[in-house]
Amino acid sequence: MSAANGVHRGARAPRSNPRVVIVGTGMAGLRVAEAIVERAPRHARLTMLGTEPDPTYNRILLSKVLARTADLGDIELKPASWYAESGIDLRTATSAAGIDLDRSVVHDEIGETHPYDALVVATGSRPFVPPIEGRDLPHVFRFRTTADALAIAAAADRAERAVVVGGGLLGLEAAAGLLSRGLEVTAVETADRLMAQQLDHGGAAMLARELEGLGLTSLTGRSVTQIHPDRVRLNGGEELPADLVVVAAGVRAQTALAAEAGIEVRRGILVDDELRTSAPGVWAVGECAEHRGTVYGLWAPLAEQAAVAGASVLGEPAGFAGADTATTLKIAGIDLFVGGPQAAGPDGEEIVVSDTRRSVYRKLVLEGSRLAGAIVVNEPQLARRVVELLRTGSEVSAALLEPGADAGADDEDDEEAIVCSCNRVTRGELVATIAEGELETVPKVAEATKATTGCGSCTGEVEMLIANASSAGNTDVKELKLEPAKVEA
Ligand SMILES: Cc1cc2nc3c(=O)[nH]c(=O)nc-3n(C[C@H](O)[C@H](O)[C@H](O)COP(=O)(O)OP(=O)(O)OC[C@H]3O[C@@H](n4cnc5c(N)ncnc54)[C@H](O)[C@@H]3O)c2cc1C
Repeated sequence: MSAANGVHRGARAPRSNPRVVIVGTGMAGLRVAEAIVERAPRHARLTMLGTEPDPTYNRILLSKVLARTADLGDIELKPASWYAESGIDLRTATSAAGIDLDRSVVHDEIGETHPYDALVVATGSRPFVPPIEGRDLPHVFRFRTTADALAIAAAADRAERAVVVGGGLLGLEAAAGLLSRGLEVTAVETADRLMAQQLDHGGAAMLARELEGLGLTSLTGRSVTQIHPDRVRLNGGEELPADLVVVAAGVRAQTALAAEAGIEVRRGILVDDELRTSAPGVWAVGECAEHRGTVYGLWAPLAEQAAVAGASVLGEPAGFAGADTATTLKIAGIDLFVGGPQAAGPDGEEIVVSDTRRSVYRKLVLEGSRLAGAIVVNEPQLARRVVELLRTGSEVSAALLEPGADAGADDEDDEEAIVCSCNRVTRGELVATIAEGELETVPKVAEATKATTGCGSCTGEVEMLIANASSAGNTDVKELKLEPAKVEA
């Protein structure tokens, strides 16, 4: 990032035992703390301030809380003991109220001050609620926090029909959660297709068919204009009965704290490649940060940002050069992967296969012989190949470009294959860590590698790698036992 937009580079010499204040106890804030603790276990003095009452939890898994298939303990990322053992002064339910850049202190809402050598702003996003009449009624919910998920889950006990405002990733996950609770659910999307930010028309049409098969109705090109206690009204006058409404219409970066302190802000808090803001000694990471014009809303790039910021705070060289976003939809029964651009540039090519008999849709977006983007519905093996091709930038084989191409079986020996795409952990790294640490449970592997701590869809594969490692051990033992005893001459 250039000096022109006011971002300072290396403006302060790092101290060996800096006082670090992290504002925001979301996933990005925690990941910065982890990066610092891993590097300087005894030296850094860390304070974390968070508005929410709970220590950091896995926000990505909130739909499980809504569906009542997980409780808060299941999605907690670190036990309370970890903060204490790591020397972190964790202040939950405590918002930062102001930053005094001249005195290098953060003021919290109860009047305490927190001096810092390094300040990390990780204030994330808040839900955007369009100005719909009736949006403050008690049966209207947002979907961002544990409090939201628990409130929706409780309301679902009493409700019969739900409308979800928004047919994006979050809206559809909320809708699926409500469906699993036995409600009749309609998702209403203003754009002309579902997941319009990620999907082309063909992919969105296939998704809508699949959702319909699960019992979820979706209306696109329609807006909710009024919410009443027992129904919603759409543009055009049509009404839908609804005794529960969830608004999932996008998010806005929480930049006010930084902006009020005089830190440069556009859509997000402006940061350079080290995640430094325009103020010396202040970093910003996560959904509140704007890097090279992009405000990211998915975990994988934010995890990278947080690791870089953690290193940079301690004066280690590190850089974030931006990242492609890729995501999966976490709805049981639908396998959807999307990554990179959904349409080819002027010199690119697109290969599209749509097969409603098999409920399969694939779009490969090519730049030359390399894959730039892809949408893959209900072809999990192909999706894994695509993840690899997008990550490595390797050439796409001619066979894969054939309309009926079969992705083939996974290469189980491919050490470079990404198993956890949220945290970019490879199979090789997992196999080595499991073997070296003799790790026998998923939580232990998660602690050592971070795998499974994002969307959790790789948990099955991690379990398999653990099982393989222990059965490999058994085989060795058996083989040893079968060895004939050596007879000394
Ligand atoms: C339901 C749901 C499903 C998702 N699914 C996926 C998925 O499948 N894949 C994926 O990649 N991503 C997914 N995401 C997005 C992912 O969870 C976010 O990108 C990530 O959690 C953002 O982390 P963050 O720390 O930047 O921000 P946040 O999680 O917003 O955390 C910021 C924290 O800072 C606190 N805060 C704000 N202001 C202050 C202040 N002044 N003082 C103190 N604290 C403050 C906030 O209360 C909040 O706790 C999902 C999100 C949701 C809500």
